[in-house]
Amino acid sequence: MHNQPLILIVEDEDTISNFISSMLASNGYRCVKTGSGREATAMTASHVPDLILLDLGLPDIDGTEVLKQIRLWTDIPVVVLSARGHEREKVEALDLGADDYITKPFGTSELLARIRTALRHSRNLGQRETVHNFSVGDLKIDYEKRSVRLSGQEVHLTPIEYKILVLLSRHVGKVLTHAFMIKEVWGPYASENQALRVNMANIRRKLELNPAEPRYILTEVGVGYRMAEE
Ligand code: CA
Repeated sequence: MHNQPLILIVEDEDTISNFISSMLASNGYRCVKTGSGREATAMTASHVPDLILLDLGLPDIDGTEVLKQIRLWTDIPVVVLSARGHEREKVEALDLGADDYITKPFGTSELLARIRTALRHSRNLGQRETVHNFSVGDLKIDYEKRSVRLSGQEVHLTPIEYKILVLLSRHVGKVLTHAFMIKEVWGPYASENQALRVNMANIRRKLELNPAEPRYILTEVGVGYRMAEE
């Protein structure tokens, strides 16, 4: 019986793949790896890993194609490995059902944090427990009372601002794309890019000591926003 989570590493560059596998091994994970997209799909079915780290630039089939095939039958968390500057590729992967992404080159602590978050979200999904409040740093949200407090002081948000904040907090640690947030807040027919930006600026003005260097809601340039976990 293995209790350590099993991670499938899909990456064709050996240096990166070896770096990840030795780092995961020394942090209590088991891993299997492949550099081929086709093999990745087969190994997902045969090993049923707890999480997949998926490079998008693979030699045989594209990483996004692998993601599509995997998502036909399983919700196994997928964290995409992507190159700097490939924002559209990241957004596409997230919209296809990837749970998160990490930009190369990345450090150990960043990768471990992404893995922990993705594993936790997939477990919580299974449990479906109701969470009544949320807190990070000096920020506290009471979902039943619809109350937001910063260092004990009530923060007054508009209904839309509150909806955005709740959405981010329900997915704490996970990146949410602009398109996903707009759909969740304004519905499927909206394209309120401008409204999202304006509301975000207002939320930050109310929550952040320095809105230019946010502590709670982080900007993922060209992709979306992420609520800080600590
Ligand atoms: Ca590659």
